[in-house]
Amino acid sequence: MLEDFKLSQENFYHEVIQFGLHQKFSHAYLIETKDYLDSDNLVLAFAKFLYCPYHYTNSSNCGDCNRCHLIDLSTNSDIMVISPDGSWIKKEQVQEIKDKFMTTSLENNVRIYIIKEADKLNKQAANALLKFLEEPDNQLIGILVCRNRYQVLETLQSRCQLLSLSGEQLVPVNMENEDFLSEFINVIETKKEAAIAFIPSLLANEYWSKDEWSAIFEQLAVIYEQALRKSVLTDFSSPFSKLVDQVLKYNTTKDCLRKLEVIHSYIQKLTFNLNVSLMLDSFIIDFSGGEYSHV
Ligand SMILES: [Zn+2]
Repeated sequence: MLEDFKLSQENFYHEVIQFGLHQKFSHAYLIETKDYLDSDNLVLAFAKFLYCPYHYTNSSNCGDCNRCHLIDLSTNSDIMVISPDGSWIKKEQVQEIKDKFMTTSLENNVRIYIIKEADKLNKQAANALLKFLEEPDNQLIGILVCRNRYQVLETLQSRCQLLSLSGEQLVPVNMENEDFLSEFINVIETKKEAAIAFIPSLLANEYWSKDEWSAIFEQLAVIYEQALRKSVLTDFSSPFSKLVDQVLKYNTTKDCLRKLEVIHSYIQKLTFNLNVSLMLDSFIIDFSGGEYSHV
């Protein structure tokens, strides 16, 4: 039940409760799990909340109506779950959702489709789903689930209401990297665009893979986000205060916000771009403000 997530996913829980209170529901949600370990159960609890006419959150408000009982059955004709068939979710699978829900429900029930690993929708499948999302049906709700929203096509993201789980504990700043992160921040903040020339020695001329850079960028995002918060909240204390204070030495709130956006856009690029060193050069230029890049 939804209330099981009241403490571990506080923001998600309170946002979702509001939907029920105001009876305002979207026709599609994108749940970004950020590797939250219990996300399968959370998605199921959310589906139950949507499906139950009393919006089941705990045993005192329901869990006992026909629909609450039905959702546990895999034969339920109002619910459909799809996940990648092989490496991708294929167009035929999206078509299956369409076929299944083409006619209106006789009992006027809400119908729900859940797409697991929505970042694995191939292009044709995503296009088919887009058409679907453009013609919303009041009784039909989509729940798209992904690890990282930046890996989902932007056109899909923009048609869904985003529910981002809190993954902060799961993307911690790895303290083993603290010295590297501190040096890296120092170079990109003080050398500006010239940092390009300093990076190879920082890496001791080793080649770092895309995954290694993704991890570093995720950690940078946490640090700059905390710096941003600390710059506006005087009593904010960060578990990574050394790095956060280092960032605040060079940046105002506005700078933190701009740089955080740059970092996020490169986390997204890293999921596609294979040329890591080119990506890194362009990151440094964008991060430093790109002052010379337009000359
Ligand atoms: Zn119920």
